[in-house]
Amino acid sequence: MDYKSMQPESLMMSYGYKPSLSEGAIKCPIFQTSTFVFNSAMEGKRFFELAYGLREKDKGEELGLIYSRLNNPDLEILENRLCLWDGAEDCAVFESGMSAISTALMEFMAPGDLLLYSRPVYGGTDHFINHFLKKLNIESIGFYATDTKEEIIERVKQSGRADRLTMIHIETPANPTNALIDIELCAEVKNYFTTPEKSIVLSVDNTYMGPIWQHPLKHGADLVLYSATKYIGGHSDVIAGACLGSKELMGRVKGLRTFLGNMAGPWTGWLLMRSLETLKVRMDEQARNAKEVADFLLAHPKVEKVYYLGFLESEKDKELLARQFTSNGAMISFDIVGGEKEAFQFLDSLKLIKLAVSLGGTESLAEHPQTMTHADVPMEDKRIMHITEKLIRLSVGVENYNDLITDINQALACVD
Ligand SMILES: *Cc1c(COP(=O)(O)O)cnc(C)c1O
Repeated sequence: MDYKSMQPESLMMSYGYKPSLSEGAIKCPIFQTSTFVFNSAMEGKRFFELAYGLREKDKGEELGLIYSRLNNPDLEILENRLCLWDGAEDCAVFESGMSAISTALMEFMAPGDLLLYSRPVYGGTDHFINHFLKKLNIESIGFYATDTKEEIIERVKQSGRADRLTMIHIETPANPTNALIDIELCAEVKNYFTTPEKSIVLSVDNTYMGPIWQHPLKHGADLVLYSATKYIGGHSDVIAGACLGSKELMGRVKGLRTFLGNMAGPWTGWLLMRSLETLKVRMDEQARNAKEVADFLLAHPKVEKVYYLGFLESEKDKELLARQFTSNGAMISFDIVGGEKEAFQFLDSLKLIKLAVSLGGTESLAEHPQTMTHADVPMEDKRIMHITEKLIRLSVGVENYNDLITDINQALACVD
């Protein structure tokens, strides 16, 4: 069979797994084991030579199973399947999205280097950049979706550290405002500052679009990062992360993962493989529901503004949406008429939709970014990014959309 010509959703049940190696089990078992028995001492020696890069692989040779901090079938098969969605050469799965992001940033940056990043980014990423990396003398410059390429380049030059720019990290659409960042524009900025002596890594946190609706590697990104806790896991029952890219870059990411020991365990790997089988049907349904919910919100008198990719206003954003995304997604934010009091009344009145952070799961969730996910971001920055007291974020799940709308409608009615 020619797997290459098939769509990823056709391969999520079987790709990379050989039943004959597991007593004919149709599903990959959970390899709950810390270590693997070598057939001979020579085999063990040869596996370690590969693991530590002491020799090149023979033609067609794969790294044998050694120890579950280095590799495990539940992780390897999962990683091979994740590669299919993004068209990546290699993937590493982590115990959380934050461990994927922090490991990638630490691998490609050294003290004295400069990081360029889009704002807003996920609160945890923001904290890691502005607290932990600062401690390592890694400075950062933020830019916004509204900045032009020339403005971004100018800001890097003005920092006086342009020669130390080694990484660009972006999140698009941005959480929680759905602001769009142009990956190709960022690749041009990267090329502008790349020299024969110094390469720059462009990483994209693609959590908001899952692996279905945006494929950053095709637009010039070097690394794609995920909180697999969100759409990939999709059932609000597992914390995990992933990083994808070329064999060369992923060799480095996996190397650091081995020594930090922050890989996911076999049980998490198994859960995520199960989740991947329904990834596309879940996300398609969530996007369909989100459109209905967004249309309802837009027409409601107690809603001031809806931030949803289906409602973009500028021609520039519409062009970017068509070029870089294949869906309007299933994340909606909106400004309620009023302020924190009205926002909290609404959130406290929801019944079917749960008041919780996180996103991308089968059940719909609502939260208040200013005081919850983005509590740690300075107030002035939040103002610039429209993360105000009246902003509410919704992650739309797979429920019947009429029931979601009924719930939102009754909760809005409770706001006085
Ligand atoms: C949740 C999230 C993260 C962090 O992932 P964890 O799995 O919670 O560590 C990173 N980026 C984005 C965009 C997220 O939504």
